[in-house]
Amino acid sequence: MEKKITVIRGDGIGPEIVTEAIKVLDKTAEKFGHKFEYTDILMGGCSIDACGVPLTDEAVATAKAADAVLLGAIGGNTSTSPWYKLEPKLRPEAGLLKIRKELGLFANLRPAVLYSQLKDACPLREDIVENGFDMMIMRELTGGLYFGDRKTEVRDGLETAVDTLVYNENEIRRIAIKGFDIAMKRRKKVTSVDKANVLDSSRLWRKIVNEVAKDYPEVELEHMLVDNCAMQLVRDPAQFDVVLTENMFGDILSDEAAMVSGSLGMLASASLNDTKFGLYEPSHGSAPDIAGQDKANPIATIISAAMMLRYSFDMDKEADAIEAAVSKVLDEGYRTGDISSEGCTIVGCRKMGDLIAERI
Ligand code: NAD
Repeated sequence: MEKKITVIRGDGIGPEIVTEAIKVLDKTAEKFGHKFEYTDILMGGCSIDACGVPLTDEAVATAKAADAVLLGAIGGNTSTSPWYKLEPKLRPEAGLLKIRKELGLFANLRPAVLYSQLKDACPLREDIVENGFDMMIMRELTGGLYFGDRKTEVRDGLETAVDTLVYNENEIRRIAIKGFDIAMKRRKKVTSVDKANVLDSSRLWRKIVNEVAKDYPEVELEHMLVDNCAMQLVRDPAQFDVVLTENMFGDILSDEAAMVSGSLGMLASASLNDTKFGLYEPSHGSAPDIAGQDKANPIATIISAAMMLRYSFDMDKEADAIEAAVSKVLDEGYRTGDISSEGCTIVGCRKMGDLIAERI
């Protein structure tokens, strides 16, 4: 298969971690007989320096013409970098908001996996995580409370603020379909999270999710209230496969799930639109404190690349091969500094990429 990938190396450790992900993708392509064609675009601070804006329209057009986008990270030190003296719409992060909007990315996927080799990094008690966990938090990204009308006004002499939580049935249906599609590639269970005992928007959410579920008879569906879900994530995280939820609940629950899984350098993410197209990136930022020192952990980016193969290109075997290679390297005791523990061999970003590529 031939696929076009737009590459955004970005700032800080972005270029280092993306180089390693491409190394692993190329090895995978060679093994499985595919061809990946990469086109670089600028975004973030590097684009501000070169073009005066964090993302040009030409760069957006290049991204749109690809089959998927692989992103490292953008941004600099927010206290010292001159990029943060610019007005907000010209800062590095504005590039990220623009590309998400232009590409219509409404579904955010964040896997939270406890690697048995990294159990020590998990803050939960050993008996809770003895069997590990592997869940996918699916968050609606373009609707809900963060996008509804808001205002602050004086009512009856009191300063009063109003935010509006709005969802229409189409917005719910398209993310629910994505959620069930993803579950079909995993353990076939969806936990839909809402607050249907209080909110109308949640009652509509539940109704539409139930409708969509009828088209996926193989997938087990359960509904869970968000307060219960927050508890269950720390009480028994292994019960979850796909957690499907709206924007604000997903914002909070995805960070909670990330925390219980341990290291930031291991956390991948993807944002999808209603075609197979997606933008794949690690959950962490550009780590300017360690940029250019060959210290960054490239695994989150490498796993994001594996997600790209699985969800945008339907290359499940290839994605499995990358994930297995990561697991093998961890089994053999190799670690970057951020996930190191006693008795392990500490390696740099480049070496970690080499080791994973060699095991594909
Ligand atoms: P960060 O995630 O970049 O770093 C937090 C800490 O984790 C740092 O100590 C860093 O060294 C470490 N770290 C992060 N990724 C690592 C990796 N792969 N390997 C080893 N260590 C790693 O968060 P921050 O310091 O708050 O933000 C730095 C910049 O990144 C800011 O400009 C911020 O706006 C930007 N940012 C960008 C994105 C993105 O591109 N999607 C996301 C979050 C933050």
